[in-house]
Amino acid sequence: MSNEIQNLKPLEVWRIFDQMLAIPRPSNHEEQIQEWAVNFGKNLGLETIKDEAGNIIIRKHATPGMENCKGVILQGHLDMVPQKNSDKKHDFTADPIEAFVDGDWVTANGTTLGADNGIGVSSALAVLASNNLKHGPVEVLLTATEETGMDGANGLKPGVLQGDILINTDSEDEGELYVGCAGGEDVNVLFNYEEEEIPAGFMAFNLNISGMKGGHSGIDIPLQRGNAIKVFFRILHAAQEKLGARLVSIDGGSLRNAIPREAFGTVAVSEASTGDFVALVDELAETVKRELSATEPDLKVEVKEAGLPSAIMDEKMQKNLTLAVLACPNGVIRMSDSMEGLVETSSNLAIVKSDTKAKTVSAACLMRSSVDSAKEELGSRIKAVFELAGALVSFSGKYPGWKPNMDSPILKTMQEVYNKKFGKIPEIKAIHAGLECGILGGKYPHWDMISFGPTIRFPHSPDEKVNIKTVQKFWDFLVATLENIPKK
Ligand SMILES: [Zn+2]
Repeated sequence: MSNEIQNLKPLEVWRIFDQMLAIPRPSNHEEQIQEWAVNFGKNLGLETIKDEAGNIIIRKHATPGMENCKGVILQGHLDMVPQKNSDKKHDFTADPIEAFVDGDWVTANGTTLGADNGIGVSSALAVLASNNLKHGPVEVLLTATEETGMDGANGLKPGVLQGDILINTDSEDEGELYVGCAGGEDVNVLFNYEEEEIPAGFMAFNLNISGMKGGHSGIDIPLQRGNAIKVFFRILHAAQEKLGARLVSIDGGSLRNAIPREAFGTVAVSEASTGDFVALVDELAETVKRELSATEPDLKVEVKEAGLPSAIMDEKMQKNLTLAVLACPNGVIRMSDSMEGLVETSSNLAIVKSDTKAKTVSAACLMRSSVDSAKEELGSRIKAVFELAGALVSFSGKYPGWKPNMDSPILKTMQEVYNKKFGKIPEIKAIHAGLECGILGGKYPHWDMISFGPTIRFPHSPDEKVNIKTVQKFWDFLVATLENIPKK
């Protein structure tokens, strides 16, 4: 199998990638691949550093006549996402990846391939190993643990790298240049409530919202999908206003970075109004389904009689919670001024969950923006809503965004180089999700940054594959870019 990979073109990239396939590198088990990368640099006689965060930095001097070029940092992450099919026996901390050629693609047998970001890393190392390329001063920065928290990027110290231009290799569509990404921050909300006895003559119902699409809270946020928590509380709000419905418990959403697909709750109403309650739920369910018919065709609202619980939440807190959830900013907040079609700022009301033992309801929003100050402003709005409702609000997990700079010199250079080589202008894109560039640029604010890569499909899944032809194009583009780096 291995021969097949080794003989693909460009040889200098695939041969390094083939070595990487044999070395375990799931996130948080990166000691072996880091050691391999350190040896790679040292064996070439190049200055090689491993920092405290596990990042590897390797320096190579300019080739003759190129000393006056600006310094370039070629960056990729060394870890990979360990995903396999359920019937596949594979130990990501020990077994090599079984890669093979499948038509125009390289893929792996039942596991992730690690082309994300192994091809980018291999290309950066191939530049170090080459003796026939023309380039200015080059530093290769191989970051640790990108896939589970960008630990390496977060731990990188300012002042270590000497270059002025950062070229990130972690994008997944050949022919596209990425020039921006979103930063993020979590909002954490906590309500405390008093238990009340369930009033005499009340009955309980499970109110379940399901069948929604969900999706990535950044990339999928412009698709205007529904939010199951918002749907639940819209129905609860109507039922509490009209019929005095009471909330027993709520379990909506699960992950901060996923649009909530489901919300399960228990609601109590007086026996006399159960018929009206069911009718009201049905009516509102129809209304919401009509509104979301294009984006949520499988939305399901179910109401079913449940066993009588021992307690309900106090009325004041229930009202505060309901109103706050209704008012909480959610979805696309603002589109970008610098790039058409790009979401600048968004909020995902991701989780609302009661703990009947602790008598609390917690909620979480994930905010994203390519403009850090816009994210801060959104944070104060969300905080205001929940504080007015008597909840405790805190922030955590903040990382900076990367605001698109359409006047970036490396962008101009790479557009010209691509056009000359391939006869068209590459598409310029930004992503409404986190990239390492956001964090790295926070440490080195003077950097001119760009991100590109070969075409990779289904990353982070056992179907991951990389298009062979685009690896050649990606390499040729990288080589030509290095030849044309602006002067200092
Ligand atoms: Zn990646």
